[in-house]
Amino acid sequence: MGQITLKQVRKSFGDVHVIPGVDLRIEEGEFVVFVGPSGCGKSTLLRLIAGLEDTTSGTIEIDGKDATYLPPAKRGLAMVFQSYALYPHMSVRKNIAFPLKMAGLDQAEIDRKVEGAAKVLNLNSYLDRRPGQLSGGQRQRVAIGRAIVRSPQAFLFDEPLSNLDAALRVNMRLEISELHQKLKTTMIYVTHDQVEAMTMADKIVVLQAGRIEQVGTPMELYKTPANVFVAGFIGSPK
Ligand code: ADP
Ligand code: MG
Repeated sequence: MGQITLKQVRKSFGDVHVIPGVDLRIEEGEFVVFVGPSGCGKSTLLRLIAGLEDTTSGTIEIDGKDATYLPPAKRGLAMVFQSYALYPHMSVRKNIAFPLKMAGLDQAEIDRKVEGAAKVLNLNSYLDRRPGQLSGGQRQRVAIGRAIVRSPQAFLFDEPLSNLDAALRVNMRLEISELHQKLKTTMIYVTHDQVEAMTMADKIVVLQAGRIEQVGTPMELYKTPANVFVAGFIGSPK
């Protein structure tokens, strides 16, 4: 589960062809990083996968089924935003439980899942606090908790650490990598930060102007960059 295939996916906003045509296969359980400069289409590509934007043409398959026209809630994916998007008036427990309440689960099941997520993320002692009483890193963990309780086929992260200071970013980077090792769920992680890409990814997708310049492991990109753009971006000596 969590295998995602893009076939000739295009996206235009009016006359602007943001994604001119992308083919990509993401395997089950992979940690895939989309990396590229600001404005190259990383968020748009992630939002297309999530179903938050409609494709102009092309198909998106999730676990072998055509998901191109499925609404976001039916795709089995969970998006984690950089802005946390937490409800300030609700406790951490209620924030994490929110998607489960919406889905109509009974309270015992909700409690079980929230406790489970809190344990994975070391949030047990913060469940009765409100977001305003948490640090940036803790808030980010609550946002991840809200994704975990839904047991998604894949997690989609859009620059989740960009609001954090440098030291905390390093910490959270490790935490997200550990989370991937624990859950073994497919993760797609968007960043413009080469270091994040090189240290976190099983597979890196380098984007420029909506096109894929290269797909490979960090080592492949470093040793055999496809072109000068990739070499320059990854910082290898081509
Ligand atoms: P990134 O996440 O890599 O910084 P984005 O995917 O946000 O890039 O944006 C890629 C390009 O698409 C940018 O030129 C941006 O201005 C444009 N774009 C994104 N969303 C919209 C939109 N809703 N309407 C028009 N243009 C958009
Ligand atoms: Mg973006």
